[in-house]
Amino acid sequence: MGNAFDVDYLVVGAGAAGMAIADELLAHSDATLAIVDRRHAPGGHWIDAYPFVRLHQPSAFYGVSSTALGQDAIDRSGVNAGFYEVAGADELRAYFARVMQQSFLPTGRVRYFPCSDHTGGENGRHTFVSRLTGAAHEVRVRRKLVDTSYLEGAIPAVGAPPFEVAEGVRWCPAGAVARIDGRAGRYVIVGAGKTAMDTCVWLLEQGVPPADITWIKSREGWWLNRRFHQPHDGLPAFLDGVALQMQAFAQAGSVDDAMLRLEADGFLLRVDPNVAPTMLHGAILSEAEQKLLRQIEDVVRLGRVRRIERDRILLDGGVVPTDADTLHVHCAASGLAYRTPRPIFEPDRITVQPCFWSFSSFQFALLGVVEATVESDEEKNRLCPAIKYWDTSADYLRAYLALLASERARAASPALAAWAKGTRLNPLGRIGGSYRDHPGVVAARDRVRQFGAAAAGNLVKLVG
Ligand SMILES: Cc1cc2nc3c(=O)[nH]c(=O)nc-3n(C[C@H](O)[C@H](O)[C@H](O)COP(=O)(O)OP(=O)(O)OC[C@H]3O[C@@H](n4cnc5c(N)ncnc54)[C@H](O)[C@@H]3O)c2cc1C
Repeated sequence: MGNAFDVDYLVVGAGAAGMAIADELLAHSDATLAIVDRRHAPGGHWIDAYPFVRLHQPSAFYGVSSTALGQDAIDRSGVNAGFYEVAGADELRAYFARVMQQSFLPTGRVRYFPCSDHTGGENGRHTFVSRLTGAAHEVRVRRKLVDTSYLEGAIPAVGAPPFEVAEGVRWCPAGAVARIDGRAGRYVIVGAGKTAMDTCVWLLEQGVPPADITWIKSREGWWLNRRFHQPHDGLPAFLDGVALQMQAFAQAGSVDDAMLRLEADGFLLRVDPNVAPTMLHGAILSEAEQKLLRQIEDVVRLGRVRRIERDRILLDGGVVPTDADTLHVHCAASGLAYRTPRPIFEPDRITVQPCFWSFSSFQFALLGVVEATVESDEEKNRLCPAIKYWDTSADYLRAYLALLASERARAASPALAAWAKGTRLNPLGRIGGSYRDHPGVVAARDRVRQFGAAAAGNLVKLVG
């Protein structure tokens, strides 16, 4: 093969995971990296995201550790009013491009191959092929493959809907609703997750009357209240949220009881107060979004859509009418992938997966730091044991239990503890600084101490 080269790490995927891990490998080692992605630019799924998407968490905690995202401005209008900024897709794409161009490539230790498919490899020999030229490259990987594709999610913009659509039915994926030709008399939103909520919120913000929206939801979800997930001046409330969870987890008699206690505290939100949620994906919602979404009264709860015909929609549990004047919007892709966990660290590869409940960028970056600073794969896996992505309330509690357990293990490692304290990706890393003596922080810390051990013990009983 003509195009052969050696490298320490081959990173498959220039999404948030690949970029955050590469950033730490560059900071904590002298390794060389090749980053390969089938997409044309860094940013992963954000490259193809629907145009009105925004982070659901503050920009302050997202991206790579070395480069700030946003200006920490507080939004003055819209559904995020009063909260720290949340980047949209354009900003995220520009951010990851800047990190690649101005931070990674100038090190001379990174080679970047966009529009390229990693086609496989073993025993340290991998191949990838340019989608543009067909040129094949052989890479001899001295240390490890960093595989961010194991849990790659689906996004509506590029995937087919998980239901049939008969010819002549007016439909589009979430993103295309922002570019429709000719208004629709009615909008049917298919999906129960964050994409569907974003689409409903966006339509309502554009002035579409709530009565013109039908929302087909196969499940109701729990959402985390944005009020408890803010940086800087919002950190006392953040820690208060941790204390509320400790107390609820310590005192709950069941998983559902824990969720209801947290709803009573305002920590968890649901859109329909009359339907019991069965889903918890960990996305963050503002109360302003909740209020808007509650205006939609035509909610269809007949399971998943199987097929859309010109005059009717067939679902698992029944049939509802539709017509030619209706635009059906596909928001039903699963943004997170659910596969059996495998060890994250192996002799020749790192398989990127979650290991505890937290914001994703912090976890991704942690894997890079652990790889670069911890000696054995056994110890790395002890510090970062892979778990499944959370889908239900019980999964969330399991992920939280994993957080409590692994936090203690990581705190015992001085290098990891120092990194976790300093990185902007760790929301609570800086709480010991200027907020240390804030009365809200002092009170919340006392409650975390009071309920922490009981919470861990009770979580083991509830879901361990
Ligand atoms: C709409 C939406 C909003 C979200 N908002 C947030 C948020 O606010 N906060 C948060 O923490 N998380 C959020 N998430 C979760 C999100 O999954 C993570 O934040 C993160 O962006 C995932 O990054 P990733 O690199 O793991 O995956 P991806 O972004 O999917 O990147 C994986 C990359 O790998 C490439 N790839 C895969 N296989 C190959 C191959 N064989 N050859 C070459 N390239 C390959 C793909 O092209 C892709 O670019 C959101 C997710 C979605 C869908």
